[in-house]
Amino acid sequence: MFFRNSLSLFPIILLATALTSIVNVEGHRLSARQNKVDASERLLQGNAQWAASTKKDNTTFFQTSAKGQDPKVLWYGCADSREPESVITNSIPGDIFVHRNIANQVPPEDANSVSVLEYAIKHLKVEHVIIAGHTNCGGANASLSAALAGSSASQTLSDEPSAGALNKWLEPLTEFALSQKSQLSAKSNSDALTVLVEENVKKQVENVSNSEAIQAAWQAETNGTGRAVRVHGWVYDLSTGLIRDLNVTRGPN
Ligand SMILES: [Zn+2]
Repeated sequence: MFFRNSLSLFPIILLATALTSIVNVEGHRLSARQNKVDASERLLQGNAQWAASTKKDNTTFFQTSAKGQDPKVLWYGCADSREPESVITNSIPGDIFVHRNIANQVPPEDANSVSVLEYAIKHLKVEHVIIAGHTNCGGANASLSAALAGSSASQTLSDEPSAGALNKWLEPLTEFALSQKSQLSAKSNSDALTVLVEENVKKQVENVSNSEAIQAAWQAETNGTGRAVRVHGWVYDLSTGLIRDLNVTRGPN
């Protein structure tokens, strides 16, 4: 009896030992990977952790999110990795409709950024459009350096082709910096950059305010047939984590 039971248990003991080995091997592999994780893999791991904790905090969050969006804010920010709008404003998915590009520009001729504006205003019915520049902006600094060096607007970056995407994108900002050259050249480089960042935000506030979508929204607001829409200009300070309102908010009047 004793031997028969022992023998019948033997395969189970073997199986348990084998499973423990697999877990150990897997555990070792996981810890080795965590020690030497690459940037893209870290994002996937972070996503899995975030999805699990978000669901734990709010069991219906993703079900609700999948049904549609109703953001009240459109955010134009710089593509800079240090200005993630949802993180720095303590927001959650669904709060902010977003367009980001180098130096937070909304040129009237750019179908990409302007289509985002049209969709947000006409279809999502957002109530606020925020242009958010940031201190030490690399795009603004490139345009400033080119303007102060007397480069042509089409050749902001001397090591890039003038017909290339980077120089084409920066051209309006460099043109703008050239138009402000006397004001900018009278300042220290860091002060001049801050001024250009602020002036660029104000210029984009003007671009957005002059757009067909915003003009139509303000006409409807004035007629009493539409909601209130406001356009704001902000600068995010990388050194403090705080946003400064430039107090250039625009409405129908
Ligand atoms: Zn930037």
